[in-house]
Amino acid sequence: TLSDRLSATFRNLRGKGRLSEADIDATAREIRIALLEADVALPVVRTFIKNVKERCLGAEVSRALNPSQQVIKIVNDELVQILGGETRRLRFAKTPPTVIMLAGLQGAGKTTLAGKLAKWLKDQGHSPLLVACDLQRPNAVNQLGVVAERAGVAVYAPEPGNGVGDPVKVAKDSIDYARTKVHDIVIVDTAGRLGIDQEMMQQAADIRDAVHPDEILFVVDAMIGQDAVNTAEAFRDGVGFDGVVLTKLDGDARGGAALSIRQITGKPIMFASSGEKLDDFDAFHPDRMASRILDMGDLLTLIEQAEKTFSQEEAAKMASKLASKKGQDFTLDDFLAQMEQVRKMGSISKLLGMLPGMGQIKEQIQNIDERDVDRTAAIIKSMTPAERQDPTIINGSRRARIARGSGVEVSAVKNLVERFFEARKMMSRMAQGGGFPGMPGMPG
Ligand code: GDP
Ligand code: MG
Repeated sequence: TLSDRLSATFRNLRGKGRLSEADIDATAREIRIALLEADVALPVVRTFIKNVKERCLGAEVSRALNPSQQVIKIVNDELVQILGGETRRLRFAKTPPTVIMLAGLQGAGKTTLAGKLAKWLKDQGHSPLLVACDLQRPNAVNQLGVVAERAGVAVYAPEPGNGVGDPVKVAKDSIDYARTKVHDIVIVDTAGRLGIDQEMMQQAADIRDAVHPDEILFVVDAMIGQDAVNTAEAFRDGVGFDGVVLTKLDGDARGGAALSIRQITGKPIMFASSGEKLDDFDAFHPDRMASRILDMGDLLTLIEQAEKTFSQEEAAKMASKLASKKGQDFTLDDFLAQMEQVRKMGSISKLLGMLPGMGQIKEQIQNIDERDVDRTAAIIKSMTPAERQDPTIINGSRRARIARGSGVEVSAVKNLVERFFEARKMMSRMAQGGGFPGMPGMPG
């Protein structure tokens, strides 16, 4: 999948101290393959790669992030950008009812979506009316009735037993009906075919002309891959639409379709549907979709927090300490400062979920909790400045005093000092590799 390839790409980057132009080129190539394999359309891939490369080459050296984290951040930013940036909200008519028309292939999930959208709007205090304009399939009207009942909203449908009705007339009449029954929103469910079909397209266009929708939503199954683009283009030309709804995001599809549709049609993805239940539905959030495509655990969140938390001076100070050859001027005070830094970034347990691919370390951290961090802080605070500066002077009697002062066993003090020396060794090693500053407070 796209996410697997991207993860592999970023795994190769991890641990690099500095990225060369060749590194960036190689990374761009990998991302390109990953996107193509995920069915993202070629022109979209090209634009994407171009933007990412430009930004990587022009990127300022960040103090909070190492180069590979910086690349991940850029890729993520560009993904969010290409997915539409901000979430686009529904436009409501100045004079109700607001008319929302659903269009798309058969099986795309229109009828299911009609119910979800209706419930979502109802929960926000609206009074939606569902309109059954799919008179193609024998059971379609029933299906919408069931959906409406589940959503607890009203439905407008042709009288049963009238034979095949006229969907355009039903649509038109439903608007008057909505006015008299004071529904402020009308959601028009339409028929679809398995393939793109002229007659169906014409019917949708006729319904559109009859009801003048405020929003035409193109509903598309995220699983159909590259076909999504052709279908979207056909609907854009045949009916036109204002926004896109991606359905079946609960499947394996990682979102190649989403990238392509947004970029090629220029229309925003407005909603995402992710299951058969009425509540499996939400406004579309480009940033969440980008994370899903990248599938980097919560690494992105971690990166964001690291950026926020690390003040520039702190980071610079830390960096110069780490760069010092033997790391000898890394003191227990720094150890404590780092620990508080980690705490600022979120509780240790939360950090666990944010380190994809770091299984070993994860397991280690799993064994400690916040209280351990508190205890460590208490021990260090019971030391004199001289002891913090040079822990080698901590002998038996000093240990006993520190233990008394912090209310722990003498062995805990001993243990902490050993962990500190371990951490210092690790710090100097990382400094040479230029990696992300280590996690103090971890058992050695
Ligand atoms: P329509 O022909 O466009 O009206 O599509 P339907 O609403 O009838 O949906 C077709 C099938 O897809 C039904 O079996 C739905 O239960 C299913 N479906 C719709 N939306 C989703 C979704 O988000 N996730 C999953 N897993 N199934 C969905
Ligand atoms: Mg339907």
